[in-house]
Amino acid sequence: MQMRVGGRAVDAAGGGRISVLNPATGAAVDDVPAGTAEDIDHAFDAATGAGDAWGRMDPRQRGKILGEAARLIRGQLDDLARSLTEEQGKPLHEARNEVQGCANVLEYYHSISGSLRGESMPLASYGYALVRKEPVGVCGAIIPWNMPVLIAAWKMGPALCAGNTMILKPASSTPVTTLRIAALMESAGLPPGVLNVVTGSGTAAGAALSCHPDLGHLSFTGDTATGMEVAARAGRHATPLTLELGGSDAMIVCADADLGAAAAAAAANRFYNCGQTCTAVKRLIVDDAVYVPFMELLKGRVAAIVTGPGTEKGVTMGPLNSPEGRERIASAVRETEACGAGRIVMGGDAPRGAACADGWFFEPTLMADVAPEAPVWCEEIFGPVLPVMRTDSFDDAVTIANASEYGLGASVWTRDLDTAFQAAESLEAGVVWVNQHLRLPPDVPFGGVKKSGVGRENGADALEQYTRTKSILIRR
Ligand code: NDP
Repeated sequence: MQMRVGGRAVDAAGGGRISVLNPATGAAVDDVPAGTAEDIDHAFDAATGAGDAWGRMDPRQRGKILGEAARLIRGQLDDLARSLTEEQGKPLHEARNEVQGCANVLEYYHSISGSLRGESMPLASYGYALVRKEPVGVCGAIIPWNMPVLIAAWKMGPALCAGNTMILKPASSTPVTTLRIAALMESAGLPPGVLNVVTGSGTAAGAALSCHPDLGHLSFTGDTATGMEVAARAGRHATPLTLELGGSDAMIVCADADLGAAAAAAAANRFYNCGQTCTAVKRLIVDDAVYVPFMELLKGRVAAIVTGPGTEKGVTMGPLNSPEGRERIASAVRETEACGAGRIVMGGDAPRGAACADGWFFEPTLMADVAPEAPVWCEEIFGPVLPVMRTDSFDDAVTIANASEYGLGASVWTRDLDTAFQAAESLEAGVVWVNQHLRLPPDVPFGGVKKSGVGRENGADALEQYTRTKSILIRR
């Protein structure tokens, strides 16, 4: 495939290519241009050229184009889902959810495109003040591989809706479906140059994008360490930033919880996308009083997971996205066991069987009696490992949940309204769920606190972040 710059399919200026591999087989599914700083500069010129007309277009008209893009994406749901499964690894039904989610986000920004308004204030001694919300210009977006098309929509939707143009760099391992979606957005009426997708490595294209001196905004989703590097580069030019970084979400199961629902949700959320979700349940904290029956229910749920290639019928968990990712997970599990900081209850290894022989699979793994110093507890584990800790009080559970450098999401499972509110107020996280986990509708702001990031995606908050406020004071 070629990348898309200025409404055209183009190759990288340097001519290099990057192979895209199927994580279930290790075989190549496609290749894309290895873009560099020169390609980012070309994309910047294209985005700048398109900016004026797009920024001046009636916001409702921009919204209509996003709505039409959502319709075209839905029309190709099955093809796009298959393409996503082949490059990312997730089962087809999850890929369909993600592509559908991408369309939902674009449609949401269509629905609120008319709501972008400033203010007018009559001020007795100054005359009138007008507060205008203006586009910020060319926005950069750097996307990870775990939810590539949904996260791309989280950035494209509000940025384009607010009248900006964009240069988007997908992850090297998952650029294909995003390129297809970009082409569909052009077919929906997006003028050439409004959205440019430059493929290439993080260290070449990503680094060049993040240190571009004239970006109006940069939004990065990925690893915390990479995000800090990106922020330092962007800081040299005072580029406004949104950072969506790592997470280590805690789920607290209280003694009065609906244990069946909690066990089902813990398994469904932790092993969704093979555990490679920023807001997955990564630390499960269970009240002593219900620990034994809860673990029995949880084991039943984990045992029902079917691991295999995402394109196969009946599969509920695919492979990890890379062999390095699998090795990191395996070594965290091994180290936890070796230092006596946790016990493997289920899984813990690569699955046997011909279907999983060539890909980067890892069994759904449940670890119990986990200590706070266990690597599977104190590091962000981006894979199918669920560590469980027991506790004897709600206050203790909250303290344990907050003892993390991350603060993306957290959930509490209880039937008691007071406990639910207490948790919602005291958990240090950007999102707190009560009796659910992981659901992120496009209208609700999403983002982290602490080292999980700055800024918010989704909702009207995101639209606001892609504008700059100009105050105009008028005296008669
Ligand atoms: P990375 O940080 O490795 O990569 C993310 C993106 O950044 C990719 O496009 C990558 O390109 C690019 N990149 C890598 N190095 C640089 C660099 N030096 N300068 C600029 N760009 C660079 O993260 P992962 O892809 O491994 O994603 C997993 C992480 O993302 C997890 O920690 C997870 O929690 C977090 N995440 C957070 C979410 C949130 O909303 N908070 C959502 C999803 C994931 P390339 O692919 O070429 O390396």
